[in-house]
Amino acid sequence: MTSGDGRLLVVGGGIGGLSTALAVARTGRRVRVLEQAPAFAEIGAGLQLAPNATRILDRLGVLGKVVRAGVLPDSLVFRNAVTGRTLTRVRFDEAFRERFGGPYVLVHRSDLLDILVEAAGEAGVELVNGARVDRVEETPDGVGVVCADGSRHTGAAVAACDGMHSRLRARISGDELVQSGFVAYRGTIPIEDVDGGASLRDVIAWMGPGLHLVQYPLRSGRMYNQVAVFRSPGFAAGDENWGGPHELDAAFAATCRQVRAALPRLGRERWWPMADREPIPTWTKGRVTLLGDAAHPMLQYLAQGACQAIEDAAVLAGTLNDRVGAQGPAAAEDWSAALEEYASLRMDRTAEVQRRARVWGDIWHVDGLAALLRDELFSARGDGDLERAAWLWGEDAAA
Ligand SMILES: Cc1cc2nc3c(=O)[nH]c(=O)nc-3n(C[C@H](O)[C@H](O)[C@H](O)COP(=O)(O)OP(=O)(O)OC[C@H]3O[C@@H](n4cnc5c(N)ncnc54)[C@H](O)[C@@H]3O)c2cc1C
Repeated sequence: MTSGDGRLLVVGGGIGGLSTALAVARTGRRVRVLEQAPAFAEIGAGLQLAPNATRILDRLGVLGKVVRAGVLPDSLVFRNAVTGRTLTRVRFDEAFRERFGGPYVLVHRSDLLDILVEAAGEAGVELVNGARVDRVEETPDGVGVVCADGSRHTGAAVAACDGMHSRLRARISGDELVQSGFVAYRGTIPIEDVDGGASLRDVIAWMGPGLHLVQYPLRSGRMYNQVAVFRSPGFAAGDENWGGPHELDAAFAATCRQVRAALPRLGRERWWPMADREPIPTWTKGRVTLLGDAAHPMLQYLAQGACQAIEDAAVLAGTLNDRVGAQGPAAAEDWSAALEEYASLRMDRTAEVQRRARVWGDIWHVDGLAALLRDELFSARGDGDLERAAWLWGEDAAA
């Protein structure tokens, strides 16, 4: 039995969905993206892309545009948010690029999304907005995706890239989000408004007891992105409306002057509870598979959620190409096998990143003696030691 018209249906047009659409279309296969929003758009401003993702963007032919729209930072600097002390620095120099085969790039989310939308369109991807997917029905020769307005799209298989609150994940797992009790505030300001003596060419991670602040430049250095995160006492107390701006000010009251200078410039009308999920035993059921945050939502402390979604995209494009070929119909079991193989290649890696992101956050947020120990360990790191990051930034998912 063959599988429909050979089209891959991608549900969700975020960074995961659009990277998948582009990577699969580049192999010659037909792809349609179904996005619920009336236009492709991203919430929040900044995104750090490490070499494990930028190498893939390079192979997809979009890295040049991403770099031109973004910033190549000088280094990633870890500082103590209370004392202000600089602990260690990862230099994004020539040795870094040679070691990991790609640059570290800071990009505005909407710039990356625009670049992916344009490239996907040029590669022949059908981009459909206003398509809120309600359910997937499998038929003997393919899949039917039914939207909330009753419209129906047919294809050979579905990549569910519908984010952390994925509706389609419920086909595969009944699990729930795990709230961390931490909350994030974000804000972007013109670079000339930056106060506090920050180094404007660096990513700065300020670590403190139960909190952190990350700052970096965006848009060719014209903007400055700031994300403040803290453990909410309201969450611990069971308050329904936990994480409000009064908690933000109290959490950062004892931090150093440079960190406190960032607070008034954060958006205060909206905040994001930080949640992830436990890894699950499978992402694929029949001809539906999960990808990106729908498959493996993680705490953002390693700045890897989007990077891992880009890795997923490259691997799925590879297994589809190997198992079902570039075009035309293929046996239903070949589609399922390609989706199964994709998941089996990705699950250990992403589970490791999910797990280590939690631990990394714990290390950032310790207090007292543990913070002293952390600072000594960070300070003892040899300048130029990149090996500790090799498991993350050096891995070539698509190889
Ligand atoms: C504060 C913060 C900072 C971060 N920083 C970084 C970083 O520096 N680097 C990094 O790599 N990652 C970072 N991340 C993580 C990253 O943002 C996410 O992992 C990534 O955006 C996930 O992409 P996605 O496409 O899988 O999901 P999403 O971006 O959530 O996209 C899902 C898409 O699916 C659509 N959708 C949902 N349901 C339906 C439906 N039923 N029908 C049709 N469409 C639907 C949505 O509208 C959306 O467009 C950060 C996250 C946070 C919260």
